[in-house]
Amino acid sequence: MDKIIKNKKITITCNMCGKDIKSHRGILMEDIFEGHKEWGYFSNKDLEVHKFALCEACYDNMIRSFKIPVSVTEKIEVMYPMD
Ligand SMILES: [Zn+2]
Repeated sequence: MDKIIKNKKITITCNMCGKDIKSHRGILMEDIFEGHKEWGYFSNKDLEVHKFALCEACYDNMIRSFKIPVSVTEKIEVMYPMD
């Protein structure tokens, strides 16, 4: 997800630990995990949209509790924002 929002102050807080993720000129200084789920009819949350953010430490704690580890692949190219 694009984390650069021009002329707009963005404040993202980790839902797990409550830590504010620092941003400078609209660019987050830390990477975060963003969860987004639109629940469907065959759930107990009919059409609810859930969103949350996790700092890297809380993401690591969450995936450490998984029975099956996350699949990890490497991206070939990383785009850095230009000033
Ligand atoms: Zn956190």
